[in-house]
Amino acid sequence: MSKNYVTGFARIGEQRELKKALESYWANKSDVNALEKTANDLKIRHWEYQKNAGIEYISSNDFSFYDNMLDMAVTLGAVPKRFQNLTGHELYFSMARGNKEAVAMEMTKWFNTNYHYIVPELSPEESYKLNAKKIISEYKQAKEYGIKTKINIIGPLTFLGLSKRVDGGDTYELYAKILPIYVELLQEIAKLDDEITVQIDEPIFVKDLDTKVLSLIKPTYDTLANTASNIKIAVVTYFENSCEASKILVHTPIWALGLDFLHGVENFDSLELIATSNKTLIAGVVDGRNIWKNDIEKTVNLLNKISLHVNTKNILVASSCSLLHVPFSLQYEVKMDAEIKSWLSYGREKLDEIALVSKLFFHGKNSLNENEIIALEENIAANSTRKSSKLIHDEEVQKRVKNITKLEREGKYEQRIQIQKEKLQYLPLATTTIGSFPQTAEIRHARREFKNGNLDEKSYTNEMKKYIDDCVTFQEECGLEILVHGEPERNDMVEYFGEQLKGYGFSQNGWVQSYGSRCVKPPFIYGDISRPKAMTVDWITYAQSKTEKIMKGMLTGPVTILNWSFVRDDMPRGEVSKQIALGICDEVDDLQNAGIQIIQVDEAAFKEGYPLREAKIKAYEDWAVRDFKLSVSSAKKETQIHTHMCYSEFNDIIATIEAMDADVISIETARSGNELLKIFAKVGYKQEVGPGVYDIHSPRIPSVEEIVTQIKLLLEVLPKEQLWINPDCGLKTRKWEEVKPSLTNMVQAVRIVRNELSTK
Ligand code: GLN
Ligand code: ZN
Repeated sequence: MSKNYVTGFARIGEQRELKKALESYWANKSDVNALEKTANDLKIRHWEYQKNAGIEYISSNDFSFYDNMLDMAVTLGAVPKRFQNLTGHELYFSMARGNKEAVAMEMTKWFNTNYHYIVPELSPEESYKLNAKKIISEYKQAKEYGIKTKINIIGPLTFLGLSKRVDGGDTYELYAKILPIYVELLQEIAKLDDEITVQIDEPIFVKDLDTKVLSLIKPTYDTLANTASNIKIAVVTYFENSCEASKILVHTPIWALGLDFLHGVENFDSLELIATSNKTLIAGVVDGRNIWKNDIEKTVNLLNKISLHVNTKNILVASSCSLLHVPFSLQYEVKMDAEIKSWLSYGREKLDEIALVSKLFFHGKNSLNENEIIALEENIAANSTRKSSKLIHDEEVQKRVKNITKLEREGKYEQRIQIQKEKLQYLPLATTTIGSFPQTAEIRHARREFKNGNLDEKSYTNEMKKYIDDCVTFQEECGLEILVHGEPERNDMVEYFGEQLKGYGFSQNGWVQSYGSRCVKPPFIYGDISRPKAMTVDWITYAQSKTEKIMKGMLTGPVTILNWSFVRDDMPRGEVSKQIALGICDEVDDLQNAGIQIIQVDEAAFKEGYPLREAKIKAYEDWAVRDFKLSVSSAKKETQIHTHMCYSEFNDIIATIEAMDADVISIETARSGNELLKIFAKVGYKQEVGPGVYDIHSPRIPSVEEIVTQIKLLLEVLPKEQLWINPDCGLKTRKWEEVKPSLTNMVQAVRIVRNELSTK
């Protein structure tokens, strides 16, 4: 038996079966039995895939109807008051999605992934109570099927660290209430079998921990590991190094430690300690965060290096994290270029890689059977063609990157803004929108038909132009000042650009769970990036030709394009982003040469790329700011550059935002009054700011009065000359019936405020 280990597996299903079953159940189109049958079939199928691939440590309780953090909250009895009258699925899905009486629990990003978890709500009055039903029954189900699983649970320190307290207090103060429930859980688990492995996920250990959390590690794992003599505990971390925690964990009676050697090379420093404490090492060496084929020989070398420290018999070969974060199987990618496909590996393929690596590492080449030898040869060949393929390596691009001389635009902000105000003649509190207007069924349909070849280019273009005409007419009628074309030609702000850039690939079935039943299909960057031709100029200039007012051009920035894609792993991220920046830079130039005077370069996902460790933040900020500036370096002084970011917390990063040097930034502060804007005043932020004056994430139509109040709040913080007035994000998910009155009210509110200011 090869000693290998899979941290966790995707549950949404290779054809997104769980998504479909959930949505049908929520819409009352099918009953609970149908939902449970789908779930059970999926669990069994996924166990079977892993078993057939030759995986030794397979998980139970990695399945979830919605989210594992939510499951853990239910297991611990951490149910917010407003749901306590409910039971079963109704309780569970109400917590996740809300119901008529109660709002849903909050959801937020899981570390630096695009997966979102439900944030548990804890209260000091609550007494917690174990509910181990799901965990127990899933274990039994697997066992009945013939697989003895390890049981995955989220660890107490991560659970507390990611929860929030309803009274605003410190969640770790509730440690003494929560830990006993974990002990009870382990006591229940202990009854299941003679010997049983429990994987306790503690990804919080990869962050910079304060002394309070560090001081809890030893008592926690002394207690948990001493709870039952027949339980082996593996504490698993991922996405970064967990050096500080490892130092403590080796002095507790746990059985094993899981470390990510791909995203946390510093974990190498923990090997000596692991060796002397005789712990088992779960070595994360097959990437669970990316879609590239593993380089088997390289990985075996990595393991050989590890085994210079840790005895081979104490090593398990593992995925770097749960395979939840990669798509399911390459099998359904029937349209993809064969060469590109040969470089990729999704979840099921990664199982085979883990099995092959472990066999090779533990038993040598001679142990491989005929199929395994072929697989190894294919792996070597694919990795070697990838190193030299023309599809990837573009000398022109590389030369251009090497010879960049102009890193930023000309002119200091103070000088530029004067020229711009002179030329563009916009008023204080200028009104605009973030770019997109409602994506109607008609334009979605037209795009789809055009893509499928059922609609010719001319008819397609006409439909889009008709939509643009309507957008322009509406914006003029309602009195907006800086207009947009509405983005009807884009189904997604990254995919639209990716499709037109060389070096970008798209999958047919590369779905990855984002939250609940929602999945995303990130595009992937496989090669050097270039822009064969202008991407947006025709649409934007057409829109400009329809109005005397200023039409704002709309682009997505390099950092966001990067952060929302799977990125090639044979080049540093900062180099890839530089290549994208050059493409955007050319587009900016084409737009301004075509007469476009304001260009917005969206960096919606700028913050998502932030490293988990403080010490690595500066390096990220350095290249992210550099490449944003590079992407607009072609802009003349009089071309006004806007950017937009989809969040509101700028306290930590305000200096970085200022350093990006955009003339105007629009942000998402609508839900926080003027609280979050204060940081801009506090640091003496120079550039102009468009704080969203209403929340577009809800169908609610804001009244004129309410927007007037909001604008006045903003004016308490920043002078009118520095403020723009806009909604807090793009309008593509809203309906026209909501957008029209909302924007009309917004413009009206600005008129009222301007009047008051002028008569003062
Ligand atoms: N320009 C884009 C839009 O309006 C920005 C979207 C975003 O910030 N997520 O849709
Ligand atoms: Zn936004």
